[in-house]
Amino acid sequence: MNKKLYVISGPSGVGKGTVIKKFLDRNPDFMLSVSCTTRLPREGEIDGVNYFFLSKEEFQKCIDEGKFLEWAEFAGNRYGTKKKYINKCLEEGRNIILEIDTKGAIQVKKQMEDAVLIFIAPPSLDALENRLRGRHTEDENAIQKRLKEVKEELERAKNFDYTVINDDLEKAVGELEKIISGERLC
Ligand code: 5GP
Repeated sequence: MNKKLYVISGPSGVGKGTVIKKFLDRNPDFMLSVSCTTRLPREGEIDGVNYFFLSKEEFQKCIDEGKFLEWAEFAGNRYGTKKKYINKCLEEGRNIILEIDTKGAIQVKKQMEDAVLIFIAPPSLDALENRLRGRHTEDENAIQKRLKEVKEELERAKNFDYTVINDDLEKAVGELEKIISGERLC
């Protein structure tokens, strides 16, 4: 079986975390890459599990030393994927999912042609805003920053290999499974 990198992006609040979690529960031979970020941990988030939480200085040092496969600034914080981490997982023959923003996804595709880019889209922009507010994880300032990113994310999604609309969780996970099993045969 081919081991590939599957990159999943989507605007904040689209529910991509839930779609991915359900996919991983049903497909235990896949693993989710752990990214680095300068964002502060949310309640319940654990260093090394949800993210590697770095200071701005530590993150900058990794950029300077060329340690990232990709990195991007998103809503005022930096996020990045370490090359070493991904290479190690691929060498171990693992199927990896990267949950990263669209800027990062496009950087990955430039370096790894085989990477499969999948965009999770909301059924509508109103639904997205309601979800983002309803989860109560960000203050108003952070919500505004994330909403500003949405338009650009949708524009960049045109360069993706696939789009899955998340209007129904079960349906979205099913579509993701179909895309990935099709790609695994390539
Ligand atoms: P959050 O702060 O909600 O966890 O993530 C904000 C955004 O950063 C999401 O779109 C998420 O997919 C993206 N993100 C998480 N990790 C990475 C990464 O390693 N690189 C890039 N480019 N984006 C990331």
